[in-house]
Amino acid sequence: MKNRVVLYFSAVQSEQPIIYQLIKNTDLIVNILKADINPQKEGYLVVELEGDKPHYEAGIKFLENLGVIVEPLSQTVVWHDELCIQCGACASFCPTQALSIERESMIVSFDNSRCVVCGMCLECCPTLAIKLHFELKEAV
Ligand code: SF4
Ligand code: SF4
Repeated sequence: MKNRVVLYFSAVQSEQPIIYQLIKNTDLIVNILKADINPQKEGYLVVELEGDKPHYEAGIKFLENLGVIVEPLSQTVVWHDELCIQCGACASFCPTQALSIERESMIVSFDNSRCVVCGMCLECCPTLAIKLHFELKEAV
């Protein structure tokens, strides 16, 4: 299984080799997608964890036992219309018509409420006008 989660660290935890131990103890593949740390040394990591179910569950338990807060990653798609050149490529891939072309005007628009974050549009946009946004807790 493969899952993306957000790990929130305290200042004490951020000074420990937790990711090294996680990999060593559980054999999980850990792909760090985003990381940030504030001046108080508290921080978060957005990671993709890959492994079989028992190892995945052992990894989550390992983190939680250390006091790391583990939360599922919440993602949304953001459309930057200022970067859009109205080529229409994304609309032909979008399965839910969240990205669609108004036939009369041929203008592309984005309806976030219809987006299921399948990611199909991300690959096809020539100007990178469509981006994934990771939603994180405010207080870290
Ligand atoms: S992520 Fe999927 S559903 Fe959302 S706009 Fe892109 S193609 Fe459409
Ligand atoms: S693929 Fe990108 S540039 Fe083309 S219409 Fe969609 S958002 Fe705009």
